[in-house]
Amino acid sequence: MSIIDSIETRLFHVPLAETLSDAKHGDHTHFELVTVTIRTTDGAEGTGYTYTGGKGGHAIRAMIRHDLAPMLSGADARQVEALNDAMYWHVHYVGRGGVASFAISALDIALWDLRGKARGEPLSVMAGGAGTTCNAYAGGIDLGFTLDKLKSNVSGYLARGFDAVKIKVGLPDLAEDVARVAAIRDLIGPTRRLMVDANYGLDIEQGIAAARAFAPHDITWFEEPIIPDDYDGYARIAQETRMPLAMGENLHTIEEFGEAFARSRLSFIQPDTGNCGGITAWMKIAKMARDHDIPACTHGMQELNVSLISGNGDGGWLEVHSFPIDAYTTRPLTVKNARAVAPDTPGTGVVFDWDKLEPFAV
Ligand SMILES: [Mg+2]
Repeated sequence: MSIIDSIETRLFHVPLAETLSDAKHGDHTHFELVTVTIRTTDGAEGTGYTYTGGKGGHAIRAMIRHDLAPMLSGADARQVEALNDAMYWHVHYVGRGGVASFAISALDIALWDLRGKARGEPLSVMAGGAGTTCNAYAGGIDLGFTLDKLKSNVSGYLARGFDAVKIKVGLPDLAEDVARVAAIRDLIGPTRRLMVDANYGLDIEQGIAAARAFAPHDITWFEEPIIPDDYDGYARIAQETRMPLAMGENLHTIEEFGEAFARSRLSFIQPDTGNCGGITAWMKIAKMARDHDIPACTHGMQELNVSLISGNGDGGWLEVHSFPIDAYTTRPLTVKNARAVAPDTPGTGVVFDWDKLEPFAV
């Protein structure tokens, strides 16, 4: 029987090779990784995880330990969707979204890992089986880089085989942002994809001005120009500028995604499997995206999300994020012909190299 017998949760503070900065979150010196391993009475084991930009990991681990793990103990691990719903309501009063969504996501991913192993299916098959590769772009937390460093960083992406890139914008002087966008367009040539991301550092008027100024440089999307809660503000920017907009990494519940689809006139949606409620929620959001005829993309956790976008098959874009979680797994992300390749092992295909992580255990 697949009865949940034990849940182990761990926290790691993983240093970054250098300090990375964006418009609203400031400097990142490390990221946090919260892992959960669920063991069942029949001896099976599934691992899930989430991550942060360096804060909140203790709270996520505490919510898993004290609230969600005791609730899941003794449950049938195969009832993944029902357990996801039960977790949501169990902590809804104190944690609708935010920390709770990170905790639920980690556990949900572990349940999907168990499901895939039990069925002998890789995640790309469980996510729809449409394919095993997907569009991918590399994006850095690079707002603090000098222009020279930004250019050499982007050249590095091209050397790694990517033909789509994203840079941060949101400097105090719009002219400087525009100069950086123009320089990167010049560097990558006219045919490669270029996206920009302001990490909600602007207000609506600034967002409109920036969208107009970036437009001549053929931008695939302008990500999070403004605070994600201002759903109608996104629609205003989209309507007034015709710039394709993207967001989703800061939406944490299905209801919030519902508002965004209904009101924001987005061209791309970017749920983060590590904070939207896990794989169960990502697949629901992908269905909503299909109903609204926009591609479901992802944020962070490329080693996992490659399977979701590939299996879902709606032409979404995989973000290859600059938190290198995949460097601590047995299969770092593979890119072939500028497309990311999903693993074919049963389960999520994300297997941590615990020896590598051990020095960073908290
Ligand atoms: Mg972003």
